Amino acid sequence: MNYDSLRACRLFLLDMDGTLYLGDEVFNGAIDFIHTLSGTGRNYIYLTNNSSRAGEDYITRLKKLGFPCERENVFTSGMATGMYLKTRHPGEKVYAVGTPAFERELVSYGVELTQSDDATVVCAGFDTTLTYEKLDKAVHFLRRGAAFIAANPDWVCPMPAGEVLPDCGSICALLTAASGAKPFYIGKPNRSMVDIISEMTGVPNSQICCVGDRLYTDIAVAVNAGAVSVLVMSGETTRDILDVSETKPDYVLAGVAELAGILRK
Ligand SMILES: [Mg+2]
Repeated sequence: MNYDSLRACRLFLLDMDGTLYLGDEVFNGAIDFIHTLSGTGRNYIYLTNNSSRAGEDYITRLKKLGFPCERENVFTSGMATGMYLKTRHPGEKVYAVGTPAFERELVSYGVELTQSDDATVVCAGFDTTLTYEKLDKAVHFLRRGAAFIAANPDWVCPMPAGEVLPDCGSICALLTAASGAKPFYIGKPNRSMVDIISEMTGVPNSQICCVGDRLYTDIAVAVNAGAVSVLVMSGETTRDILDVSETKPDYVLAGVAELAGILRK
């Protein structure tokens, strides 16, 4: 195997769940892998589609698990959604279907939230505080023609012991069934996540490597953005899923410990 294009990468965008840890269980060699990145002069950003937590929450969580992490090392689909709303729907009132952390994240980018009939955008996230009242309101606005923006397309969020939580994609499927409106998804696999980071850091997409365990988000975003991709088999993708997938990663590795070994050479 030729790892030249992988070794040439200067910035690594790292999925977390199923890639670095699962729940509170940190994978063997995962923290070492981060030190290998910085030790070999490479940068990294923890990149997550999880829009139920804010960037700040991830810094706290990653540090608690033992990972080095500063503000510039975290980018979430909620942050990308805030940037998107601010530039593409300036001055519009937004009805959010999301957690308090998601709402705070949007507001921090200057997005104005509303509960009333002046909402011209419905913005959905991975809402672990979802209520029937929120669904009812969102459907009401969507049926009146509000734009439908969603933070991430994931159907489920993986949990330990093979359990899952219904994620933003599943919530949007319900809203679509009830309103007929289809969402525009901001998070992975939409290439805008990688493009924004490339712009912020000055690293071209071809020298950015996306590392993750999920084909339809982590690997697809790299393919869409012209970045290098590494699929790790430590999470939800099995050999059988990979064999029939149309989305093919550049590299398939057992986990980030193996990746660290390649980058150290
Ligand atoms: Mg994952």
